[in-house]
Parts: sequence; C-alpha cells; structure tokens
Amino acid sequence: MHAPLGSELHDILRRTFGYTAFRGQQEAVIARVMAGAHSLALMPTGAGKSLCYQIPALARPGTAIVISPLIALMHDQIRSATAAGIRAASMTSADSDNAATAQALRDGELDLLYVAPERASTAGFQSLLERTRIALFAIDEAHCVSEWGHDFRPDYRMLRPVLDRFPTVPRLALTATADQATRADILRQLGIPDEGLIVAGFDRPNIRYAITPRGSGRDNGPRQITELLQRLDGAGIVYAPSRKQAEDLAAAINRSGREASFYHAGLEPERRARVQAEFVQSESMVMVATIAFGMGIDKPDVRFVIHAGLPKSIEAYYQETGRAGRDGDPSEAHLFWGVSDFARARQWLGEVEPERLPAENARLNALAALVEAPTCRRAILLRHFGEHPPAQCGNCDNCLEPPRVVEASELARKLLSAVYRTGQSFGIGYIEKVLTGQSEERVTARGHDSLSVFGIVSAAEAPLLRPLARTLVARGMLAATEHGGLMLGPEARPVLKGEASVTIAEPPPRTRRQRRTRGSGEAANPVGNPLFEALRAKRKALAAEHGLPAYVIFHDSVLRDMAHQCPETLAELGAIAGVGTKKLETWGPDFIAVVREHLRS
Ligand SMILES: [Zn+2]
Repeated sequence: MHAPLGSELHDILRRTFGYTAFRGQQEAVIARVMAGAHSLALMPTGAGKSLCYQIPALARPGTAIVISPLIALMHDQIRSATAAGIRAASMTSADSDNAATAQALRDGELDLLYVAPERASTAGFQSLLERTRIALFAIDEAHCVSEWGHDFRPDYRMLRPVLDRFPTVPRLALTATADQATRADILRQLGIPDEGLIVAGFDRPNIRYAITPRGSGRDNGPRQITELLQRLDGAGIVYAPSRKQAEDLAAAINRSGREASFYHAGLEPERRARVQAEFVQSESMVMVATIAFGMGIDKPDVRFVIHAGLPKSIEAYYQETGRAGRDGDPSEAHLFWGVSDFARARQWLGEVEPERLPAENARLNALAALVEAPTCRRAILLRHFGEHPPAQCGNCDNCLEPPRVVEASELARKLLSAVYRTGQSFGIGYIEKVLTGQSEERVTARGHDSLSVFGIVSAAEAPLLRPLARTLVARGMLAATEHGGLMLGPEARPVLKGEASVTIAEPPPRTRRQRRTRGSGEAANPVGNPLFEALRAKRKALAAEHGLPAYVIFHDSVLRDMAHQCPETLAELGAIAGVGTKKLETWGPDFIAVVREHLRS
C-alpha cells in the first residue's frame, strides 16, 4: 500500500496538467518513485503512463532521464510536455543542439531529458550524468529489454550498469504489453524488486471492438472498409497485410472520396517521415499501413484502427488496436478476416522450428477463438491477459448485437466427409455444389453425383456452409491445399467421430446498419453544435498557425466541456479538466473570445 500523495503533487497535477484527481494506478506508481523505490509499471496505453514519471520529475530535485527507443516518439512527447510548460529536451543523432542540451542538463535547467539506450550506455553520457543531479531514471517501452518481449532491443541490455552506478536514484520501467515471463525478465534485467511490479488493468473501455469475416465478390474486403469509413469520423489507421495491399487499399479509399495515405517500410525514409508527420497533425486522415507504422507515434486522437487481415497474435492485436483512443474518447477497432489468412498462417507454421511449434500453434488457436467467438470480444482479450472480466462489456459487436449461435456438428461432419470423398482438392464452391446436389457437368463428369454425400444438405442449411468452412479452417479441422482447395486438417478426426462439437455464430445479414451507440457512458462529440464547431475551428486555425497537432492545444474532451460550460473568464476555463496553467495562458484568451462571440450572437 502507499500513503496518499502530498498536496504538492496534487498541485502539480492541477497546475501543469489541469486534472483534479489521479487515475487508476498513477498514484501508486508516483508514490513509489517519490519514496525512492524501483518499480515496473505495466499500464495499458492511454492510462497516463508518462504522467507517472513527469510528475516526480517536477517534484524531485534534478532531471529525469527518460530512456526511449525511438526518436520520433521522443519528439512527440517533448512537444506535448513543452505545451504543458515542462522543460524537456532530447539528445539524439537527429538533434543539432546536443552541446547546448548537455550544458542545460548540467545547469539543472531541464525537467526531462530523453535519450536512446545506445547513447545512455556510452562512457561520454555516463560522465555527463556524473555531473548532473538526477531525479529518476524512466525506462519507457521496457519490454524491449526482454528476449521474451515482442520487440527485443539488445541496447536495452546495456542499461543495467548505468543504472547501477546511481543506486539511490529511483528507476521506473514502463510498458503497455508484457506477459508473465516478460514481466519477470524485466524485473531481473533492470534490478527491480518483485514487489515493485504495479499492474494496471488491461481494459480500454473506450474502444469498441468489432470483428467481421471478409466478404467475397462485390462485397469484398476493400469495399467493406470504404463503406465502414463512411461512418467513422476523425483520423485513423488501416493495417494491411502487405505493402502492395496497403497501396491498393489507399487508392480505393481515395477513390471513395476519403483522404488516405499509405506507409510501409519500402518507402524512402524522407517520405515516411513526411506522411507520418502529416498524420500526426491531421484530424481526418486515413493512414493505410503495414504494421511498421504506429510504434513511434504518440497521437492520442486516433479515432479508429481497422485490420484488413488477421494480426499476428492477440498481443499484436491488442497493441495495434490500442493505438486508438489514447485520449480516452470513444474509438473503434474493426478486424476483417478471411479463411485465406488462417490458411496462410497455418502454411507458415510448416516452416517454424519444431521447438517453437506448440507456442505458435497456441498463438494461432487463440486468434481463431477470438474471431470466431459469438461471445464478448473484450472478455476474451482480457482473459488472455490473465484478468477476470465480466461476461459482457456492452461495447463490442457481440454484446451490442448478439449473433445467433447455431449447433453445426452434424453439418460439419457432412462437410468434412464431402471434402474427403471428393479427394481433398476442391474449394468450398465445388463442395457446396456436391452437398446441395447440383448435377452440373463438372460434378457428374467426375461421378461425384453418385457419392453418398451428394445432395445431403438442404437449401435451408446451405447458407451456413461457407461460414462453417471458415470456422473449420480457423480451428484446424480443415486445411487449405497448395492450390486453394480444402483438405482435412489435424483436428478433423474428433469431429468425424462425433467426439467434438462445432457451433458457429451466424454471420450478420449484410444490410444491418451498425448503430453508432457509445459505450462507457461517454459523451460523443456534439457534432452540429455551433459552439463546439466554432471551438474546433479555432483550434484548427491555431494548430495550423503554430505548426502543432490539434490535440497538443486541447483534447476533444476539453472542447466538449467548453461547449457545455461556456466559460467566459480564464478562471472558469481553468476549472475544466485538462486545462493547466501554461495552456490557460497560451490559448485561454483565444477560446474565451470564441465563447463570448457565441454567447453574443
Ligand atoms: Zn463485449
């Protein structure tokens, strides 16, 4: 347990960040740092991780040294910190003023200094630290220190000797994703005691999850995505499985009338930096990207993340969708998947070293269970991370419109038998013809009209065959041949012998319009409210004038409160959550002028 934080820290929270209360585990983490203890904070994206080192940096004498893996990420964070009146700088190969920064550090003129692990471990930097008063070490993206983590960076292993030279300086490791093995490894690698682990819940209640099978023909994946984008406001990311698909999808979205760019590792570094900067500034751009995009971006107002294909794992899905809604505002995560995704993934398993096979299989099965489930998506995600969530969240597709679950074991046996008896080489279209008894020439020429499975599926059951085939492939009961046909998979036997049952979620009719209801009781942006629109226009103009992303000025939630409360004085504006002293001085008069203008008219 921790003692309540003193009034000094609450003052900093209110003055600098404009909040009256800490959220979640922030207070517990800050209390440990203030007491000089070493800690590992495991907090979901959007839980206010950076505040956990920024507030002690302001409260403790000296400068906080923040280890961060990516220059772009450092620069985004410095911009946000500076806007709140915090003195922050970085020393990287991309900064031209490193000598001046070193001088400022020695003179005690910095609250935060961001460096990459490569630099932190050099002799030169260590001798600079010897002449500096250090408030704390913050090690961001700390999962990079572990070989068990999904982004291992060997440079993080060089940090321990640096930290050990300053044993009395508190170290705070932070990460948003780490399973049990990775957590234990981070503690060991960075010399943090076991009791220093603080885990905040994984839930991101403001993100609505929805998972849909990709359509075929006219209603194919790109079309599903462009239709979905028609009702999604704001800036967002579409993850595509390949560079080519990223470019094609961006073109399709642009043709549909929505502004889209693409990003992948094949682009010139200069162009990558440019589109990334454009996206961070934008309030409406759709970025179609391979998974190379997103890790180095600190953009809190991403309103949606769409996956055009199956992610690599549940961890990857959680991390990628977690880039939506870091400002806590309602956001959406949509995943479109197809049977070919699983076919490709299972094929790839054939090339994995034998000792890694069980883990990779488990990874894929967990994904299959998530996409095929007729039950709450959030509950599945949270259980995967070891939590015990309620059975229903009320803010995912399956909770909002529960799918009809169909018992399909008998139909599955018929389907598997038909695949087997036709020689395990045909696709679902042909199998469907045989099962429903269509005496086409293709079928009769092969004598398949005389098989026992010919015509044993009724017209009423026929529409279930394709979703059922998807389920069977996802669960390894069917597998894809090299030529795109179907064959029995390793899990087929128990179904054929009647030892395993199969249920499927009936696919929703395509015409169903998804309601844009909001979860967690959070208010939506009052689109059409003239004051809110005027405030947003003012923010946009100021952002353009100062070359800043809009969210650095004020988050949407602040504009909503302004539109609701109509503050006419700086004192009234300063009472709104998210308005600190520096922002009040810098932007307050402009926004009050808008409110007054609105009240007069
Ligand atoms: Zn749910």
